[in-house]
Amino acid sequence: MQQLEDFKSKINGPKQKIVITTHHKPDADALGSSLGLKAYLDKKGHKVTVITPSDYPAFLYWMKGNDTVINYEEYPQKSAELVATADMIFATDFSCLSRINDLGELVQRSKAYKVNIDHHQDPKDFADIRVWDTAAAATCELVYQLIVDMGDKDLIDKEMAECLYAGIMTDTGGFRHPNTTKNVHLVVAELIDLGADGSRVTRMIYDTNSVNRLKFIGFALSERLVILPHLQAAYFAITKEDLEKYHSKTGDTEGIVNYALSLEGIKIAALFTEREDAIKISFRSVEDVAVNKFAAEFFDGGGHKNASGGKSYLGLKETTDRFEQLLAEKKEELYNQK
Ligand code: 5GP
Ligand code: MN
Repeated sequence: MQQLEDFKSKINGPKQKIVITTHHKPDADALGSSLGLKAYLDKKGHKVTVITPSDYPAFLYWMKGNDTVINYEEYPQKSAELVATADMIFATDFSCLSRINDLGELVQRSKAYKVNIDHHQDPKDFADIRVWDTAAAATCELVYQLIVDMGDKDLIDKEMAECLYAGIMTDTGGFRHPNTTKNVHLVVAELIDLGADGSRVTRMIYDTNSVNRLKFIGFALSERLVILPHLQAAYFAITKEDLEKYHSKTGDTEGIVNYALSLEGIKIAALFTEREDAIKISFRSVEDVAVNKFAAEFFDGGGHKNASGGKSYLGLKETTDRFEQLLAEKKEELYNQK
């Protein structure tokens, strides 16, 4: 395929100025795929900068290259210059430019050769080449495969392997979700072979809670969990004041939605968080219940079948009322999908 040959010759050719960007509030897959890729492209002799549209949780700071990441919100001018003058731009773990806020417009305008590496549904057509597979559990799995396909597996070192391991581990919910395929285990086995210490990565990501975060989880479980047994649904609604009271930091609400989903008989879980500009929503589901369609249709969002997100510009109470009403109306459709 000509496209692939062009891509390979750029990577194997003379030094390129490369920008890697990923989605708003990067998670381990977003940051791990970006920094894993950066380390690889650095080794291929290119000049590579990772730009994130926002900050990200402190439990990702251990990743190699973290200290070189530019946060667009802190350095908009510098980011804009880098994007405008880049020869290549990699977009990892998202496939719709609205997911990177104001950076999207800059990427759109840039003349750079664009590469989209992602595993979300319904990609928008903004890239020159797309490494896209919704069957992949994580973008990190695709980055691993890409490096192998380039014939460069031997360039993957311990630090890179740990970045990629982290993304695969978290996007499979710690190897628990149905996307934990045979290939996931095979790739992870290879990453361990290449030096990744899975136990260390697990500790860095899951066992670095602050006391505030643990107490916040306790509070959310006892005071903010709403269970709707007749709708097989449960959700948390977190106010701005709750976040302030527990000195919540970026990443502190991550994973809380899973407690609602862990309830027996619950098929849909949601977390509504009152942020400055909107209510941020996380949806999770089990089996064939597709929350991405629901999120796209009613909450300006999207994502994967069993893990999606969205936004609402109503108040918190109005948003949860609307959610309950929609669930009641769409129950048949939602729970009987095949
Ligand atoms: P989370 O609940 O962890 O923020 O997001 C879960 C999944 O939904 C992720 O794969 C994320 O990329 C996707 N997602 C979250 N928020 C949005 C959104 O506003 N729009 C779209 N299209 N996807 C989202
Ligand atoms: Mn991902």
